[in-house]
Formats: sequence, C-alpha cells, structure tokens
Amino acid sequence: MRVDYIALAIPAFFILMGVEYLIARLKGKNLYRLNDTISDLTAGIYSRLTPLIYFGLFVFVYDWIYRNYRLMEWSMESVLAWILCFLGVDFFYYWFHRHTHSISFLWGCHEPHHSSEEYNLSVALRQGAFQGVFSWPYYLPLALFGFPWPMMAAMSSFNTLYQFWIHTRLIGRMGWFEILFNTPSHHRVHHGINPEYIDKNHGGTLIVWDKLFGSFQKEEQEPVYGTVKPLASWNPFYTQIQYWAYLWRISRATKFWKDKLLVWVKPPGWKPRDLPQSGPIPQVDAASYKKYDATQPVSLQIYIAIQFVLALAATVLLLFNASMPASQKVLYATFIVSTLFCTGILFEKHSWAAPLELLRLAFQAIFFYLAFYGKLSAPALAIGIAIGTAALVYYFWREQQNLKPQVAIA
Ligand SMILES: [Zn+2]
Ligand SMILES: [Zn+2]
Repeated sequence: MRVDYIALAIPAFFILMGVEYLIARLKGKNLYRLNDTISDLTAGIYSRLTPLIYFGLFVFVYDWIYRNYRLMEWSMESVLAWILCFLGVDFFYYWFHRHTHSISFLWGCHEPHHSSEEYNLSVALRQGAFQGVFSWPYYLPLALFGFPWPMMAAMSSFNTLYQFWIHTRLIGRMGWFEILFNTPSHHRVHHGINPEYIDKNHGGTLIVWDKLFGSFQKEEQEPVYGTVKPLASWNPFYTQIQYWAYLWRISRATKFWKDKLLVWVKPPGWKPRDLPQSGPIPQVDAASYKKYDATQPVSLQIYIAIQFVLALAATVLLLFNASMPASQKVLYATFIVSTLFCTGILFEKHSWAAPLELLRLAFQAIFFYLAFYGKLSAPALAIGIAIGTAALVYYFWREQQNLKPQVAIA
C-alpha cells in the first residue's frame, strides 16, 4: 500500500505558510499575493493528482527490476543501507534536476515550479504536474543496487519534504550548515533569473553535488525570481504546459527538419537557425523588476478563495480515501481540476471567465446530486465529462483569438 507522505504533511505545510506570512507581516513585508499563492497551490494539487494515473506503473517497474535483476541485497534494518539509499536518491535527484534545466523538453515539466515571481513556502508546493512522469526512470538504478521499494520511496519523499523549508526569504545565511546542505540562501539562487544565477544549485538535500560537478553559486545580490521568459498568466493549464506549447510553436515555425527535433533537446533559449535568436540573458534588478499581477475586486477574491478551499477539501478526501469507488474518484478529480481551472481563469479578467464558471457550477450541481442521491451510471459520467471538455475546448478556441503578446514567437 502506498503511503503518501507528502499528502500527510499538508496540515504542516499550511501552518508553516501561516507562520511565515505572520512573521513577514510583523517585519513589515508582504511575501504572499492571493493570486500567486492560489496559482502555486493549484499546481501543487494538480501534481498530487497526476501520480494517481501513472504511479502504479512506476512501482511495478521498480519492483520488477528489484526482484529480477538486483545486484546486491540490503535489509530494511540496515542503517548503512538507509544512508546509502539517501545518498543515491539525492544524487539521482541532482542529475534529473540538472537535466530539467539543460534539456528543453524536460524544462517543460519543471518550469511550472520556477514560474512564480514570488519566493515563499507556497512556491515549494508549486510543482509540475507531469514532472514525475519524467523523473522516475532516474531512480531505477537504485532497484539494481538492491534498495527495496519502501526504502527508496521513503527517501524520495524525504528529499521532497526537505525542500519545503528552503523556499523562504526569512532565513539568511546558515554558517557551517550550508557547506554540506541545501539552504534557503542556496535555493534562492536556484530560483533567481539574474544572469549569474541561471542553472545553478540543483541539489535536493545536499549541496555537495553542485560543488563537485561545478554548478554551485553563492548568493550575492538579491535574486529576482521567476523565469527568463515570464509566464504572465494565472491559467493553471497554461501554467503546466506553456513551455511545451512554446517549443511546439518554434518547432513548427522552422523549415529545417533537424532543427524541428533539436528544439526539444537543446537547452532552453536555443532557437532554430532561421528564427530570430534569443539574446544574452538580460540583467535584472530586484528593486525595479515588474511582476505580473492581475487583481480582482475583494468580493471576487473572497469567492475565489472559498472555491479554492472547497477544491482543497475535495483533494484531501480523495487522497485519504483509498476505498472510494473509481467512478467517485473520477468525479472528485473532475471537480478539483475544473474548480481550480476556473479560479485561475477568474483572476485573469477574461470575458469568458464568468460564463465558464456558471457552466461549471451547473454541471457540478447536477453531477453531485446524481452521484450521491440518485444513480450516476458510467455513460452519464462519460457524457458529462465530454460536454465539460467540449466547453473547455470552446473556451481555448476563443482564447486563441486574443493570444497574449508574450506567447508570440517572433
Ligand atoms: Zn529547478
Ligand atoms: Zn524550488
């Protein structure tokens, strides 16, 4: 049975975010914006839902390699085994993370973690919903080296959980601790878009890999956070796929076949030879950098916050109720994904946001009534999801008419 340590830590995440918010307020700083935080947490929730689809395959393949091809055997009681497994997970995490920054199609799955222009604990939860699909092959060598699945899974969760607390601007330098370990200061550099900070400090728990493999950079000037090509959107779907959509567009725009393929494997920023080249990474300054912001009246912000809390509650119910029938799981997942999608769209002041939200509410009311008080058959569920999908496709088709200037490639 799979223990989702990350989901178990959800209450602690919220308490610590509250503490960070209050301490910052007492110091006269505001580290959180509602639109940005909801965007972070939405990406976090999406990234807990997608493994429900592919995670079983990962466990199966890992365990199959472990059972048939392991070169050695470690007992769950061996302290040495736990230490080696921790080092192994951290080492392979470093290389996966480094590759996400140097290979464009992998950057597409990791870029959502970097696209917030804030730096606070909620950014730690902002994850690429599809990152796990690409990261798991990196850990398969640990099955060959004989580390049993529960040990590897526990160490991998530890690696993820460790990285929560380093996403804060409230903790400064940490003396001897930062010689070996990843710290808020080291990881702020990792999120910086100042030219000297790009592609530095990829470590998970330990910073020693960066020092060994030449990717370490000390924090000097205050970083500007975000991505070189700003996301400038609160749309949660766009947040997850925007870099792949961009790669697709430049790969279609070039007439050179080789370049159409190279676009996906070259480092981010590489351009086909017949397209305008990206210049050097521009200098930025924390004091003058303009962050993307689209705010709404307080009443609408309260409405969005309530919808978000409902989606969060549904997420907790879904993640902790393993015995839920499959049709109800689909219902919950559809509710969570569509609610969070609409909250993001509402922040964007799009003319279609309100009609789309009304349509969503109507569908959900009918669906939940049928699921809990009537009979919800599989065909009704399929028809409902098909109509919902058609509404979304229509929405995106309308969106195409007014593409934002920053998503144009020229
Ligand atoms: Zn990164
Ligand atoms: Zn981070």
